[in-house]
Amino acid sequence: MTKETGVNWICQACRQAPAVEDVRDDDPRQPYSLCHECADRLRHYALRPIEWFNLAALHGWTKFLLHDDFYDQNGEASQPDVDDYATDDMRAPTLEMCSGSLERLIDFCVTRWRLGKEEFEAFRPFATGTVLAAIEDRADAGNRQVWETMVQLCANVVGSPAAPWVRAQFERAWRDRSLFIWAEAAAKCLPAAEGLHKTIDALKTVQGRDLEKQMSALSWFGAPAVLDWIEARLPRQDVTASWGQLASVSDLNWSRVQSWLASGRPLSLVAIDALVSFIPRQGQARILTNLDPKLKGCGDRSMIVHALRTYEAQDGAPRVATKCSFIIQHVNELRTE
Ligand SMILES: [Zn+2]
Repeated sequence: MTKETGVNWICQACRQAPAVEDVRDDDPRQPYSLCHECADRLRHYALRPIEWFNLAALHGWTKFLLHDDFYDQNGEASQPDVDDYATDDMRAPTLEMCSGSLERLIDFCVTRWRLGKEEFEAFRPFATGTVLAAIEDRADAGNRQVWETMVQLCANVVGSPAAPWVRAQFERAWRDRSLFIWAEAAAKCLPAAEGLHKTIDALKTVQGRDLEKQMSALSWFGAPAVLDWIEARLPRQDVTASWGQLASVSDLNWSRVQSWLASGRPLSLVAIDALVSFIPRQGQARILTNLDPKLKGCGDRSMIVHALRTYEAQDGAPRVATKCSFIIQHVNELRTE
């Protein structure tokens, strides 16, 4: 976008005064186009809420000058580098205020630290095709954070009509290391199995710690095929809790847990971490709160206690003892179905 096209004649923050300077501090490829006053306030972490909102809607809020150390989610500066900071009652719009305009609603979503049911439901009055077209335009024009928000909206607002677009976004997701974000949309918009296979294929070339980070993308599919994948890809040593967490959201049933416990390390460690994941607790991974996984096919919780006591008798490692005693202590809270 250039001034010649007329797009940036207006300051991106106040959207009233003419834009007269580009602030390139965060990203030279996507500068902020601003009036002098807004540029000054931006550099001093002292934007008024509506100015922060307007900028975050275009640039996302993860850029340094806009991020959550300096502003709360309503756009109020939390550590302005000026003596006389005032919001001057220039508040950022609420979800309710944005919900009459599709463009403003999308703006609002880009400014959120995380999206939830309330935001998704606000799209209901708009026709799916119109929403999808608006999402595609924003994603094309936006940076990585904007793109990620659009992919999340596709997953939670559009669904299967977004399949061709979601399919076409795979390359960008892979290049930008956003497989986790893409996989949610793949699970919710693409025909069953397509997204899962594509994700499994992508992970073929990934190893070690990188695999442990990226494999969380498989969480969205809730598929027992992921349990087979875990068996095939699990390292012999240094098994982190992320493997058990992934197993817990992949339609895990008690008979598989029993067979993993019986097979010993490393699968027994995955079984124990998965059981821990079925117990809701403070500070657990957000994906667990989100997906609320439950252990299938276990009619009697005393079987879990018995199986863990039997396993502990053969594997006395402190890690095992601590986790087994946690599960046994909280066995009545363990989510089953
Ligand atoms: Zn301005």
